[in-house]
Amino acid sequence: MRFLLSAMSILLFLNCKAQNEVVETSVKVTTNPTSEKTKLVVGIVVDQMRYDYLTRFYDKYSDGGFRRMMKEGFNCKNNHYNYIPTYTGPGHASIYTGTTPKYHGVIANDWYDKTVKSYVYCAGDTAVQSVGTQSTAGQMSPHRMQTTTFGDENRLFTQFQGKTIGISIKDRGAILPAGHTANGAYWFNGKDEGNFITSTFYMNDLPKWVSSFNASKVAEDYLRVWNTLYDIETYTESGSDLNSFEGGFKGKKTATFPYDLKSLKVQNGGFDILKATPYGNSIVADFAIAAIDGEELGKDTVTDVLTVSFSSTDYVGHNFGVNSKEVQDTYLRLDKDLERLFNALDAKVGKEEYTVFLTSDHGAVEVPAYLQSVKIPSGYFDSRDFKEKLNVFISKRFKASDLVENVSNNQIFLNKERLASLNLDLYAVQSVVVNELIGYEGIDKVYAAETMQKASFTTGIEVLLQNGYNQKRSGDVITVKSPAVISYGRTGSTHGSGLNYDTHVPLLFFGKGIAKGSTFTKTEITDIAPTMSALLGIGFPNGATGKPLEFVLD
Ligand SMILES: [Zn+2]
Repeated sequence: MRFLLSAMSILLFLNCKAQNEVVETSVKVTTNPTSEKTKLVVGIVVDQMRYDYLTRFYDKYSDGGFRRMMKEGFNCKNNHYNYIPTYTGPGHASIYTGTTPKYHGVIANDWYDKTVKSYVYCAGDTAVQSVGTQSTAGQMSPHRMQTTTFGDENRLFTQFQGKTIGISIKDRGAILPAGHTANGAYWFNGKDEGNFITSTFYMNDLPKWVSSFNASKVAEDYLRVWNTLYDIETYTESGSDLNSFEGGFKGKKTATFPYDLKSLKVQNGGFDILKATPYGNSIVADFAIAAIDGEELGKDTVTDVLTVSFSSTDYVGHNFGVNSKEVQDTYLRLDKDLERLFNALDAKVGKEEYTVFLTSDHGAVEVPAYLQSVKIPSGYFDSRDFKEKLNVFISKRFKASDLVENVSNNQIFLNKERLASLNLDLYAVQSVVVNELIGYEGIDKVYAAETMQKASFTTGIEVLLQNGYNQKRSGDVITVKSPAVISYGRTGSTHGSGLNYDTHVPLLFFGKGIAKGSTFTKTEITDIAPTMSALLGIGFPNGATGKPLEFVLD
């Protein structure tokens, strides 16, 4: 915020509050009577960060990044997602709204919308226009997220004096955390542009600090040769660089260091190649630091909220897999970027004047081909084969060909109109499909939507499914694949399940109002937003189902 509280403005406030004729500075005094509050909450999401990346690479982290958070703050070591599916869109929405897809409605990244009968994207919005690009990459907003974030509640509480800014490489990583009332959300548009952009949902023109950032051609500067930060021989915490479990870049035969990004750029989506390297995180850190100045975040006594999502970790994980040298190097470099960000916060907002939390939107599975090579049960599921087999069964069983309308995100959507015209009972058909699918190889559990609506589960994977099930948006039958079985190529990692490799993610807090310590007590991803609301003394996000973590608060 722009104005510093001065003795003058307090006087002004005391003089005129009775007449209700308050100037802007004194409004701030009324909304935030003490300066004891944190000046800035920085929410950090590291996309696809498994909990064990904190411990596996611990010895190689610097003192100013992850280790600073662990040493100076509070470490929730047993923090989990409490719903399925563990994807990026639902993850970011759940962290900031304190609830699950059952309530916030972000049931996947892309999902089949059964009312309009086509796919929708979690952040897509054709009612708004791009700002900062001629492309459609800016046609985005949080309108599909149905509940408020703690940033929204902070905006309401402070009469819109406390700002919210969201930043990420991915549009959904910037938009969903920033909420409905954000002052701005910015994401990276690669291709041949390499700029941060936004949408008319927030503003009609980029602010000057964003235009200047883009004009400085930072993205160009990051088209470097990606080699390991330290001698690759010292990277003993990951597998060999050359193996058959990694994807790599087009135009390079092996997925091995070094990677000359300038020469690989054309074949790998132009500036989009940066997304799949640690430099995608570096440019996000640069942009976040620029935002602290540009938006004057944490400058006065009204709390602002900055949400930063580091997405490159996800791209690197998908491409190279959990056990790769590339993932290790990406985390060691992210650690340096975090140190840079924390140092900037110390200098610009002040040590002990801001509060940070860090978590992830989901974990990731070890590459199943690698797990198979070390005899751990795992595998690949052919979803195209699955759809065909299911259709053949249904046509035979009900003597009707088009009862399955869509299969996506481990859900089967039945054609309700068709069922009605054939006088078939929806729940009876759901039940027949459940009994058929449980016999399929690679499928471990199957549930009818009716079960999700009527049963009340208290433990197990059924709770996670129920928390992820949205009656208005979800399908008719829900399938769960066997452990470490994925629908994915044979190289690289993915995520989405309710198993520990996908649900167990870091949760670190540090800074103003945070206690020092750690716990193995189980915490859930939906606890973060209520904890932030409790710290700020503001209303909980309207759909929040998590609880404030009292032991985290000082
Ligand atoms: Zn991912």
